[in-house]
Amino acid sequence: MAERVIPLVDQRAAARAATVPAHAIAPSGLLADALGRPLRDLRISVTDRCNFRCSYCMPKEVFDKDYTYLPHGDLLTFEEITRVARLFVAHGVHKVRLTGGEPLLRKNIEILIAQLAQLRTPDGTPLDLTLTTNGSLLARKAKALKAAGLHRVTVSLDGLDDAVFRRMNDVDFPVAEVLAGIDAAREAGLGPIKVNMVVKRGTNEHEILPMARHFKGSGIVLRFIEYMDVGATNGWRMDEVVPSAEVIETIRRELPLVPLEAAAPGETAQRWGYADGKGEIGVISSVTQAFCGDCNRARLSTEGQVYTCLFATQGHDLRSLIRGGASDADIASAIGHVWQGREDRYSQLRASLPPDARAGQRRVEMSYIGG
Ligand code: SAM
Ligand code: SF4
Ligand code: SF4
Repeated sequence: MAERVIPLVDQRAAARAATVPAHAIAPSGLLADALGRPLRDLRISVTDRCNFRCSYCMPKEVFDKDYTYLPHGDLLTFEEITRVARLFVAHGVHKVRLTGGEPLLRKNIEILIAQLAQLRTPDGTPLDLTLTTNGSLLARKAKALKAAGLHRVTVSLDGLDDAVFRRMNDVDFPVAEVLAGIDAAREAGLGPIKVNMVVKRGTNEHEILPMARHFKGSGIVLRFIEYMDVGATNGWRMDEVVPSAEVIETIRRELPLVPLEAAAPGETAQRWGYADGKGEIGVISSVTQAFCGDCNRARLSTEGQVYTCLFATQGHDLRSLIRGGASDADIASAIGHVWQGREDRYSQLRASLPPDARAGQRRVEMSYIGG
């Protein structure tokens, strides 16, 4: 087997300061990018740290005891995050997802949630406020998250077999504790709950059916995610991607499925219902069936950089504007300018890119900008 080369490129410094354009771009809720796509969804990474070491995201060889995480002073404060989120909402965002790293590791995250829960879209509607977590701290925190105003959670879980799961999180974390976290979230009313499973060939594809059987009829929507070439450290190979079509075939041989309509424009998952009416599953085919045409997501990194694509090589630094004393109008204009210039559609182009461009050597890590 070829030796695995892990390029160590720190993308965190690569952002350029976001520009305030000469002509103000006042929020109208109707912002569109260069390809006509609206801005609807904001993912906010609240920490670059995690207590897991999933090999497809934060491989131990790179994220070891010598790895330097962002110093606390570099992180946006809760007030700064809420201010930026409010301006994004004025531009048209109506869904906010907290992520990381592991978002539940950020101290007092409930305070941020309570602040974000106060935001309203231009027509006065509360945000769809959600959080993606590895579930390890959920049993302890679910009630407080709900009380703070969180609506729902997505929990990542890559298998039910304890040995497989411990190997995939690579810190020997037991599956039973994540399942207890999911139960606690359900009891706290943090639903509808989604469970995300990244499928990696040779690692956990034999967990597809046990996961489908387990969550069928539970009210929880299980979603299978194609293993992606995000970041620069996971040594991604196309032959380790299990195409969604194969996942669907595997399941429908035992549990018949029927296709369902998309829930909302820009929805990343293709939905399938169980033919007996007992629930649904989703597949997120970021590799085999790109959905860039509908992509309405912006990402705000832990230290205040805006990324317009998961595969971006460079962010736009808002923190320097915020900490430099810029007005709301200027920051809103800067956000508008970034979005209006957006042309990203990496997944659509992936197949036609030369191998060098695909190798991911200059891309930002998933643990830094969040999934
Ligand atoms: N720590 C939290 C968690 O695991 O849910 C939130 C952050 S994590 C980066 C967000 C999502 O990205 C998770 O569902 C994870 O499985 C997914 N993810 C990470 N690396 C991935 C990869 N290479 N391909 C596909 N999904 C990936
Ligand atoms: Fe941590 Fe989530 Fe990445 Fe796993 S996928 S290492 S839980 S941030
Ligand atoms: Fe959106 Fe970029 Fe993913 Fe395409 S590749 S769906 S533009 S994040």
